[in-house]
Amino acid sequence: MNCGRNLIDLSLFVNHFMMNTGEIQCPTCFEWFEIALPELGRGEIVELDYDCEICCRPMLVIVDESGARAQSLSDL
Ligand SMILES: [Zn+2]
Repeated sequence: MNCGRNLIDLSLFVNHFMMNTGEIQCPTCFEWFEIALPELGRGEIVELDYDCEICCRPMLVIVDESGARAQSLSDL
């Protein structure tokens, strides 16, 4: 399945951040996939809106020094 919005987000990361990748698990379909991560400052936490690459459902991805994890938007 092709999520057009993710392609746009990835191109922004390439322009503005070092390319790091992390594995996250979709909270909706529970599939694992790799996303591009922003470079973090010391102790920094970044929240990203992301659409699952498998089921295209929106999620919130929280990135900190220990890695990335996904949270369903319906849990907020
Ligand atoms: Zn999914």
